[in-house]
Amino acid sequence: MKVKTTNIEDTKKLAEIFAECLSPAGAFVSLFGDIGAGKTAFARCVFKALGVKEKITSPSFVILNEYKGAKFPIYHFDLYRLENEGLETIKEELREYSRAGVLTCVEWADFGAGELPYNRLNIKVSYNEDFDDTRFYEFEPVGAEYEEFVQKLAQKARGKGLLI
Ligand code: ADP
Ligand code: MG
Repeated sequence: MKVKTTNIEDTKKLAEIFAECLSPAGAFVSLFGDIGAGKTAFARCVFKALGVKEKITSPSFVILNEYKGAKFPIYHFDLYRLENEGLETIKEELREYSRAGVLTCVEWADFGAGELPYNRLNIKVSYNEDFDDTRFYEFEPVGAEYEEFVQKLAQKARGKGLLI
């Protein structure tokens, strides 16, 4: 399921319907895509839609940001800068953070590849070669429990005219 946003406002709309689709069980979301694609921008809009009031910054230097007090406890990872040793530790933590009732978003999930929980939602973010504000968000369920989620999201995205 692929969505096209032509500006940050569209991405915000997408994030809002994404937040609406989340069940109380939470989700494990792995984000892929180049620097500047829009992984953090999307995550930020989702967290805001879920009620995070504080400033949401990229976890690229700190590896993990946590937010409490929203609809779910939220864990926002960025694995890009992890050295090998750190990766070993974080891999164990990633399994811990895949528990029910929390929302975990992992940017640069490529670096955690073998250790991501099997049941997850992959989001591949990309842009055009013209480097305008167009962004593509492709949602790929891994494991049965995210299939229904993606169908629901597709329906809402179609309603907003975001579906390709
Ligand atoms: P990443 O986390 O993938 O490295 P960021 O989300 O930090 O990327 O950066 C994306 C940049 O692109 C931000 O500066 C954002 O404002 C900008 N941008 C422009 N158009 C869009 C769009 N349609 N959706 C998301 N971000 C956009
Ligand atoms: Mg980022």
